[in-house]
Amino acid sequence: MKKSLLSMGLALAGLCASVLYGEPSKVFDQIKQAASPDELYALLYAVPKGGDLHHHGGGSMPMEYALDYYLDAERNGGRQFYIRTRIEACPEHRLRPEVMYHVLGEWDWKALDPCLQKQFKLVTELTEAEQAAWLSDLKIDQEGEGRDEFFEKIWWRMGPVFNDLSVGPDLLVENMKAMGKEGLRYIEMQVIPWSHTDAEGNPVSAELWYETYKKRLAQPDALATGVTMRFQVVIIRFLPEAEDHVRRAFEFIDKHRDLFVGINMAGREDEGKGQAARFTEVYREMQRLYPKIPLAIHAGEADEGNSNIRDTLALGADRIGHGLNLLKDTDTYLLMRQNQYMVEVNLVSNKLLEYVPDPMQHPFPVLLRTGIPVSLNTDDRGMWDSTFTDEYYSAVRYYNLSWEELVKVGRDSLVYSFLEPSKKAELMADYDAAVLEFESTYLTEDWRDAVQDVDVTVSNYGKENFGLTSAVNLGDPIE
Ligand SMILES: [Zn+2]
Repeated sequence: MKKSLLSMGLALAGLCASVLYGEPSKVFDQIKQAASPDELYALLYAVPKGGDLHHHGGGSMPMEYALDYYLDAERNGGRQFYIRTRIEACPEHRLRPEVMYHVLGEWDWKALDPCLQKQFKLVTELTEAEQAAWLSDLKIDQEGEGRDEFFEKIWWRMGPVFNDLSVGPDLLVENMKAMGKEGLRYIEMQVIPWSHTDAEGNPVSAELWYETYKKRLAQPDALATGVTMRFQVVIIRFLPEAEDHVRRAFEFIDKHRDLFVGINMAGREDEGKGQAARFTEVYREMQRLYPKIPLAIHAGEADEGNSNIRDTLALGADRIGHGLNLLKDTDTYLLMRQNQYMVEVNLVSNKLLEYVPDPMQHPFPVLLRTGIPVSLNTDDRGMWDSTFTDEYYSAVRYYNLSWEELVKVGRDSLVYSFLEPSKKAELMADYDAAVLEFESTYLTEDWRDAVQDVDVTVSNYGKENFGLTSAVNLGDPIE
């Protein structure tokens, strides 16, 4: 009896305080006005987040994780890796592309012409300056680096690490720890399950990929991250055999629906050979053969207006990746309004790859406020040197997001995920409860004290773009 009176009293006191100080959304508005960049970053770091629906395996992890693997013999089992530190012409042989800091496993290096071999050295023999230059060249972190650097060079500098089935699953769990710490609950990661190798560079089957990842994700440390993983098969759209990959993806996903939830298509849209309309026939063919497999497809990641989003919807797409030129195609924009096709937004990616250098030209706030579901995503945060929080911070700072809008964006990332209904309901209930708890902890008159206690991971991107004063610690291992 006494206890319930006491809790009633506490509840009343809490109610009075919140009435005096205002509703969570009003407090959020006040915080936006009063907080320093570091305070707002800490607050948004602690905000409960839903899903990262646009997330490429290999590009998603801090590049420091890859370096650790190459430089630590205990982690890589003493295997040898070679890195290119000189580019000189050889009379008969070339290595395409010609990229500084191109990393090869010993097995690939041995197969090179001796003239090319000489331009490589062991990664463990890099000078400190070379090591720093390699790390920097794995990121879009310099003036003038943009989409050519990203699409044509960076991937060769990562070497075989993320494709190595003896390492990839552990790196994924490392990344789940980091993103779980930011309050993320779900990742839908794009992978090509038949493009992986064993530790010596030999191809492994997609079946083995599936078994190995499934086992790793069931380990206690993976479960403890609080992050649920599901995968999409991604098709590289401009390859000549891309139609066959679509067929293969349908067949593979249909057999592994517990982990695989959808198909994606990626690759430069300005490349010309991978336009959506090319694939109409093969998707029709597959849709006649298999129960529904959802589609989330890159479209509208382009400078100019074109019919790519419309053609992609015609393939049966449920979600559009990027959708940057949607507002330039009025008919398709009107079609998508209220029609429940989500646009997966990638603010940091679009800025760094110079699709939208000026954030005020980004369609995100217009889509959000005119009835098109949107989510925030990291795309290839390893190369952006960024966190999920950077996406939230960009959205709140550039577009004056209200608390209700912020919560809706997070919630919609679960609503429009391709998760099976029971798991989706579970994650949404968990998200809603976490939002209430966040409101009572942080959106109060004591918010300033509360954000002091947040153990924040600060990214280089955040430091450069938002004027944070805290030290960068993204890439440090998460305990
Ligand atoms: Zn993407």
